[in-house]
Amino acid sequence: MSSKRIRGLNILIVFAAVIIMLGVQAAVIASDWAIPSRYKGKIIAKRVRYFTQKVLALTYDDGPDRKVTPKVLDALKAHNAKATFFVTGYQAQRYPDLMKRIVGEGHVIGIHTYTHASRPDYSKAISEIKRTADIIEKTTGKKTYIFRTPYGIVKNNYTKVALQQGYSVFLWTICSADATRKRIGSATIAKNVIHTPNPGDIVLLHDGPGHMATAIATQQILRELSASGYKFITLPDLLCKWDKYLETTSLSKSGKKLNKIT
Ligand SMILES: [Zn+2]
Repeated sequence: MSSKRIRGLNILIVFAAVIIMLGVQAAVIASDWAIPSRYKGKIIAKRVRYFTQKVLALTYDDGPDRKVTPKVLDALKAHNAKATFFVTGYQAQRYPDLMKRIVGEGHVIGIHTYTHASRPDYSKAISEIKRTADIIEKTTGKKTYIFRTPYGIVKNNYTKVALQQGYSVFLWTICSADATRKRIGSATIAKNVIHTPNPGDIVLLHDGPGHMATAIATQQILRELSASGYKFITLPDLLCKWDKYLETTSLSKSGKKLNKIT
């Protein structure tokens, strides 16, 4: 073979290798729970205005729990609904099988810290977020880009670190009140959610230990809101829908208006 042909062959091989590497990288990114770039390092506490698609994002904090989480998952499955679980590293480490089940059934996992402290110091915040991210990745094989701070406290080091690291920090737009000190029953939890949802609402619920009433309420929420035409999607999916919506409306042209989503 002439040296010219060999050189040509070498170039071809390098070219093919680059294509394969890019393909592998794309597959890795696709298998993670990617979020649109406009939401990276942002606090999300409001719906996008004028969004009309009848979708809701149910979110469950403080789990997984061996009794409550399977009941929530059963209810979601029965309605072909998807949800988001903000797990604590502590619970996630105890129940790797539940972590796998959550992901296997099409739901998304976010970080809810390791110990669920209210005001950790900066280094504790860094280590807890990393530790929980590692547990999620180890048990599910996926990387998450979403975070929720305990007790909704955004002025603490958890939130500071999460934003610095580019996570989307989620609050909620509907509170089910299922974690108030004086625990309420499943019918009231359900009523708090079913009452007046708007397209694109983010619903705060809990599947941590002792939250069986929420699992029961989930059945009623899914039944009644499915009947009125709502679909239930994960937070990364909701962000993608918002992103598309903003791209196709004039809202996306104004940075000032965009801030209203955060
Ligand atoms: Zn919590």
